[in-house]
Amino acid sequence: MALRFFNTYSRRLEEFQPLDPNGRAVKMYTCGPTVYSFAHIGNFRAYLFEDLFQRHLELRGYEVDRVMNITDVDDKTIRGCAAAGVPLAQFTQQFKDAFFADLTTLRIKRARTYPEATNQRHIATMLAMIETLIARALAYQAEDKSVYFRIKKFPGYGKLAHFNLDELQSTGRVKNDEYDKEHVGDFALWKAWDEADGDVRWESPWGPGRPGWHIECSAMATEILGNQLDIHCGGVDNIFPHHEAEIAQTEGCTGQRFVRYWLHCAHLLVDGQKMSKSLGNFYTLRDVLAKGYSGREVRYALLRVHYRAQLNFTWEGMLEARQALARIDDWLARLRERIASVSLADSESPQAGRMLDFEEALDDDLNISAALGFLFESIRETNRALDGKELSASEARAWLEWWKRIDTVLALTAEENGTPADVAALGDARAQARLAKDWRKSDELRDQIAALGYEVRDGKDGQKIAKRGRV
Ligand code: AMP
Ligand code: ZN
Repeated sequence: MALRFFNTYSRRLEEFQPLDPNGRAVKMYTCGPTVYSFAHIGNFRAYLFEDLFQRHLELRGYEVDRVMNITDVDDKTIRGCAAAGVPLAQFTQQFKDAFFADLTTLRIKRARTYPEATNQRHIATMLAMIETLIARALAYQAEDKSVYFRIKKFPGYGKLAHFNLDELQSTGRVKNDEYDKEHVGDFALWKAWDEADGDVRWESPWGPGRPGWHIECSAMATEILGNQLDIHCGGVDNIFPHHEAEIAQTEGCTGQRFVRYWLHCAHLLVDGQKMSKSLGNFYTLRDVLAKGYSGREVRYALLRVHYRAQLNFTWEGMLEARQALARIDDWLARLRERIASVSLADSESPQAGRMLDFEEALDDDLNISAALGFLFESIRETNRALDGKELSASEARAWLEWWKRIDTVLALTAEENGTPADVAALGDARAQARLAKDWRKSDELRDQIAALGYEVRDGKDGQKIAKRGRV
């Protein structure tokens, strides 16, 4: 069966066909974090959906080249560094470090590169794009010295978000005091410097200032991946104005279709409302780890619902994730035991039937709930066969091989040496404490881990945890 995904642009399920004439290479761009505070687990729902997407494409033989940007200059980062009284780069560094530590904790595969908006080379690309847009009358400098995109001049503005210009209202992402604009929906490409920006400024043909958020992504995506991408992802709140603006800017410069497939994940909710920093109803990963959960459990809890369905975050949901993983761990242990024991008859050959269902469910717009349904049905059936001593060692081996294959997508295997969930959770919390240079907390957590009979050793690629005497 061909892979098919729901394209926000057409509002349809479309068969997946990359631009590469050999049908193998896939160019994927994913909008990354704005590093003015710790990412919350709503953000990580988006990044985990993208991780699932990349991993499934790779399972299906595609070679995915993924880029994720880091927004390290915008209103919020500037406000943050001013309040902290430190330079912008110093202010954002701590949140960049935390972000990468969180990716590791959640087992999110690294993108090829994480370009940063403040990199001089990318700023130069942004300036060049803005110049092109002005030359084509798609942008203008207003009296406030900022440069704006002229949305009325771009045919098709609103096609991704599916609305027409007359419905356009000013949104939270648009500054209210931009009264110099020709149209309320015109968005800033270059924001003129003002006193509140302090020493955050770059020179430009239009005077000192800084880039707008949208042009950052257009510039970094095309500079690194080329003018045309296969896939662009984000959360649904990115559709407008951010991705709509990216299309207008990029296509306004290149005259080519920017992205073939736009995929957006629905929000993570808390008590029925979007989890967001502005509402104050958010949990960071470290908040959840501090309650004794591991990164693996958070990964499962955020992955298990279809990306286009909203997911309500609850502590019961976290408990369910723990139980589901315990079932998987227990099943794998039983399979290994069965393989090790030679006393039972070993003649039947394994059945492949259900093994394909998992992948086919993901082929169908990443239907993870159906895929997990097949997994747990398989676990139930094999457990029954094991109970009745009816599962041959070769069947058990085939199931284990199958697990290894699907786990390249799920990334849910327990830590080596069978580290129990509570020890793994303490380990994840300790890794976070070390990152925050909280040595006292790190030592406390080491003691708690030791009290459970495990030892930690810190190495070049992070910490290793094993049963005491086995590190
Ligand atoms: P931001 O740092 O706000 O630009 O967000 C980074 C990514 O997280 C974007 O792809 C957002 O769409 C996504 N995002 C933000 N809040 C949520 C949420 N509650 N649920 C899912 N994704 C979210
Ligand atoms: Zn972006």
